[in-house]
Amino acid sequence: MTISQASANVCTFSELNTNKQKTSVSEEDKEICLPGTDYVIKSQVSLAAYTSYRVGGPAQFCVVPREIEALQASVKYAKTHGLPVTVMGAGSNLLVSDSGLSGLVIVTRHLRHSQFDSQTGLLTVAAGEPIPGLAWDIAERGWQGFEWAVGIPGTVGGAVVMNAGAHNSCMADFLVSVQVLSSDGTLETLNREQLGYSYRTSRLQGSDRIVTQATLQLQPGADPAQVIATTKEHKQHRLSTQPYHLPSCGSVFRNPKPYAAGWLIEQTGLKGYQIGKAQVAQRHANFIVNSGGASACDIFNLIRHIQEQVQDRWSIWLEPEVKMIGEFQPVS
Ligand SMILES: Cc1cc2nc3c(=O)[nH]c(=O)nc-3n(C[C@H](O)[C@H](O)[C@H](O)COP(=O)(O)OP(=O)(O)OC[C@H]3O[C@@H](n4cnc5c(N)ncnc54)[C@H](O)[C@@H]3O)c2cc1C
Repeated sequence: MTISQASANVCTFSELNTNKQKTSVSEEDKEICLPGTDYVIKSQVSLAAYTSYRVGGPAQFCVVPREIEALQASVKYAKTHGLPVTVMGAGSNLLVSDSGLSGLVIVTRHLRHSQFDSQTGLLTVAAGEPIPGLAWDIAERGWQGFEWAVGIPGTVGGAVVMNAGAHNSCMADFLVSVQVLSSDGTLETLNREQLGYSYRTSRLQGSDRIVTQATLQLQPGADPAQVIATTKEHKQHRLSTQPYHLPSCGSVFRNPKPYAAGWLIEQTGLKGYQIGKAQVAQRHANFIVNSGGASACDIFNLIRHIQEQVQDRWSIWLEPEVKMIGEFQPVS
């Protein structure tokens, strides 16, 4: 959509709010052009299409920027209008409530670019780059260090924030620095030490900083055929041990060391257990799959049920790895 086309639909945020109170149907077609860009913020956008669970209600407002300028304009717009911001990458670690999210959802998956310095092995990639594609790309160049990541269906931004990991490696092992956008619109570079990394966490979780790009250190001197073979093996291992064919968010719970969450759930007899259309996967008990038409509420209730059953049996309260956002009503 061009600026002039979008302008035909422009209205102020307060007008939109008023319209919402009158009728949510009339809000559906509203689009707001971001000042200085040809991007539009849309209202009442279903988030189910943006999550790997394929569940979630509408975002009050949503924007999918392709350039950093559009991202900056989105953040500025939210600040000016007092809108809370939620950032989503590929939505592969999110459970969004059925009632949706108020404020502005910024989806970063279309922020794409990468630059590789073959002298130093430093790779700088935008937040929206998909991790699996990146892993294949690096392997095909014959550089080592990212084979473990091939089965993680997230973006670079989400992986940096979550400290995503597999096969005894994680983002923090290869990360040199990240560029972040603060809510005041400034860009800043943070090095790994400033990010407070540990198992599946970083200081970026719960902060209002948006990752715009990351710089990773890759290792030279590998046999390209071997790197590709290892990447393929990791992918194959995933496909044979995890239910990749059904919508999920990967592992639902953090592993309460020394135990594996999946083992505890399986030993509690919950494999295959179902609430609505949400089911504990037969192939891997730490996965909850959407077996077709599940609601976020089904998944949330199943998470609670698992936590209670495992607590009763093992006196261990499983902590979710999945980020639950929006309103959920626990069943008592
Ligand atoms: C089949 C499957 C297998 C999986 N296997 C693994 C695995 O082996 N290991 C693993 O660690 N995870 C795994 N996951 C979970 C998930 O893929 C990772 O956590 C991934 O890093 C999330 O990235 P994302 O872009 O989807 O982030 P989202 O799910 O979109 O977001 C996750 C969190 O990061 C924040 N965020 C996202 N992008 C940005 C940004 N640019 N700036 C600031 N904040 C941001 C969000 O606000 C949210 O808090 C799996 C998921 C699936 C569906």
